[in-house]
Amino acid sequence: MSWEENVRRAVPYVPGEQPDKPNMIKLNTNECPYPPAPGVRRVLEEFDPDTLRLYPDPQAGELVRALAQYYQVEDSQVFVGVGSDDVLAMAFLTFFNSGKPILFPDITYSFYDVWAQLFRIPYQTLPLDGEFRIRREDYRRENGGIVIPNPNAPTGIFEPVAVMEEIIRDNPDSVVIVDEAYVDFGGESCIPLLKKYDNLLVVQTFSKSRAMAGCRIGFALGNPKLIGYLNDAKFSFNSYTMNRLTIRLGVEAVRDRVYFRETVGKVIATRERVKDELAALGFTFPDSRANFIFARHRQAPAKEIFSYLKSQDIYVRYFDRPRISDYLRITVGTDREMEALTGTLRKFL
Ligand code: PMP
Repeated sequence: MSWEENVRRAVPYVPGEQPDKPNMIKLNTNECPYPPAPGVRRVLEEFDPDTLRLYPDPQAGELVRALAQYYQVEDSQVFVGVGSDDVLAMAFLTFFNSGKPILFPDITYSFYDVWAQLFRIPYQTLPLDGEFRIRREDYRRENGGIVIPNPNAPTGIFEPVAVMEEIIRDNPDSVVIVDEAYVDFGGESCIPLLKKYDNLLVVQTFSKSRAMAGCRIGFALGNPKLIGYLNDAKFSFNSYTMNRLTIRLGVEAVRDRVYFRETVGKVIATRERVKDELAALGFTFPDSRANFIFARHRQAPAKEIFSYLKSQDIYVRYFDRPRISDYLRITVGTDREMEALTGTLRKFL
């Protein structure tokens, strides 16, 4: 008998590399290439460190109110956490307890199976079709919950809200989590469906469209009962997940609607241009509505392109997994970064 027999074993999620080289081009973790809203800088300049003596507001009320105002919901419909990873993990823990398998696509955010294993939640992955689309009829089986990113990662494909609504409607006895990490880049949110369905939880993040991956802010919107249960779980785990500074920074980011629209608009414009350039270089890809493009080359193996780019200090993401090992996930950077990328690709090919 050894203590090791009683360890909660976990096979951890492996995030993209975080290299720190002076002239690197980092297109591997879907960060925003532009800075956060100007108000965020102002908060940092004016923040009084003396206040760090005190614990933060355990409800993060100011941030909850700012989000409720922005999305036109009640404060009681908002839950905030340390990045959407924290929010999603808390939601898995809170809602997926039936003992029946939860459902998610076979090609999707690779943290879902990690949380399922950590929390001992049985799960079943449902294969996307040949074009990486969701087969909505697959989600009509018995289940203990559903989680789907829309747009999906790493494909970037956006499914119409009507498809998501059908899945939510077909599963009134399960919580359906729609992970909208990338929705601001041209998708359409399921938030309006909250009025109709009490089993829907919409999760979003400040890490991509609000350019604050380093801050770690994520949130969920749902009906007050769902949010109440999430808060009960959170307050049974760690009362103070959001620190004082982050709460202030998040509030300023949400308030600046103009800057937000500008930033997202620039990323979308660059993405559309890069699609044309990649196509001209012999790449094919699903039509992305996210801040990345999931591309394969007609001849060159993805792994070789990945290694060559890395040798040139250009980092993209490669997943050595079934069905997607021919693909590279390329985050949309600035125009200059993308020109460097396509120039380097041209040289290699
Ligand atoms: N959901 C999806 C689909 C993602 O790709 C990511 C980014 N890795 C996250 C959630 C988590 O992002 P964050 O914790 O930074 O909010």
